[in-house]
Amino acid sequence: MAAALSASGNGKSVAVLEGAPRVGRKLLATGNGRCNLINMKDAPYYGEGDFAKEVLHRCGKEEVLAFFHRLGLVTREEDGGRVYPGCGQAAAVLDVMRKAMDRQGVTVICDAKAEKIEKINGAFRVFAGEEAFDCRRVIVACGGMAGGKLGHDGGAYALLTRLGHTLKKPLPALVPLLSEKGAVKGLSGLRLPAVLTLCDGERPVASAAGEALFTDYGVSGICAMQLSAQVHGLKRPVLKMDFSPMLGLVPCRYERISIPDERKTYERMLAFLKEREALLSGEDLLCGLFPRLLAEKMRGLSLEKLAEKLCAFRVPLTGVRGFEYAQVTRGGICAGEFDTATMESKKIPGLYAAGEMMNVDGDCGGYNLLFAFASGMLAGKAAAQ
Ligand SMILES: Cc1cc2nc3c(=O)[nH]c(=O)nc-3n(C[C@H](O)[C@H](O)[C@H](O)COP(=O)(O)OP(=O)(O)OC[C@H]3O[C@@H](n4cnc5c(N)ncnc54)[C@H](O)[C@@H]3O)c2cc1C
Repeated sequence: MAAALSASGNGKSVAVLEGAPRVGRKLLATGNGRCNLINMKDAPYYGEGDFAKEVLHRCGKEEVLAFFHRLGLVTREEDGGRVYPGCGQAAAVLDVMRKAMDRQGVTVICDAKAEKIEKINGAFRVFAGEEAFDCRRVIVACGGMAGGKLGHDGGAYALLTRLGHTLKKPLPALVPLLSEKGAVKGLSGLRLPAVLTLCDGERPVASAAGEALFTDYGVSGICAMQLSAQVHGLKRPVLKMDFSPMLGLVPCRYERISIPDERKTYERMLAFLKEREALLSGEDLLCGLFPRLLAEKMRGLSLEKLAEKLCAFRVPLTGVRGFEYAQVTRGGICAGEFDTATMESKKIPGLYAAGEMMNVDGDCGGYNLLFAFASGMLAGKAAAQ
């Protein structure tokens, strides 16, 4: 839609082929129905992160924000730079885009799932069911496999791989973590502020802070999901949970952080427990410290062991949940085969791609929609030249 809006106007004939019965279904589900459409803070992207950086250098958060303001959307920025529609409803984002497509004469054809693109005499023919659509230029922006029915089944990548583009294996990202059953037994439903460190055996890989949610299959919550893409490929994935934020020993933060020094964390925790032991002992030491469910797991431990458990509660992981529960796809069409200024294929002139289809993904917080909108806007503008 961002591509169509950037390509249309000035008498250009633009059509959107949408495989689903309606456009923008995934948009409605974003941000828990509030649509976190942009993040005003800089953050790294993964997959081909440098490609995303270049794209956002050419069409960044300010340009995307201005684009939505021009469409009439009132926005509001919250803590951490997250931008939402002022009214807090994802539907407002979709509404302004649909209305603008109407105004700018974009033809929207739903239930038109593109199955094949052929290049014929310098132009393109897109096949969708019984129909074929001829066009001078084509932008492929079919999204990724995340979100169950809101994503595609992987088939859309073939639109580009058949034309010679390369696919980096798609994997679920921003998705809850699966653990060995025993590790979280009895904790399901607990939501606690924590610092999470993903390790391969004892080697720390990445950390994120926030609210961790224990479930009957493992650990969820944004901070756990931020680490999920890095679980793929680890030999012995283990999640170490440090509950210092719950005990007020460090501030509660809600972001990716650099890997903390485990030794320092342990010493701080032990000092805290020793101070507490001077006032309370035995069962009373644990009472009021943390939820009962967790206290059950800590009963009878020495002070040193208790400190160790509280700052490195080990949850051995068995993997991550599937695409159905994921917010984004890691992997996709190799971005380096496209031009960062125009999103045009370096292999096939006149062919463009944008959004989550590409081998680019970002953290939770508006970064994935920002990249989708920015790359779509660049592609639309260039394709209209
Ligand atoms: C539950 C959930 C919450 C999320 N929340 C956020 C958030 O708050 N902030 C954020 O930044 N990101 C969020 N994301 C990620 C974000 O929604 C996606 O990264 C973004 O929508 C990608 O945009 P896109 O245009 O590339 O793809 P999509 O939004 O998926 O759009 C692609 C469209 O192409 C259509 N399509 C697919 N195949 C074909 C075909 N063969 N022919 C024709 N049409 C086809 C699809 O039906 C779809 O309408 C969330 C994702 C999920 C699942």
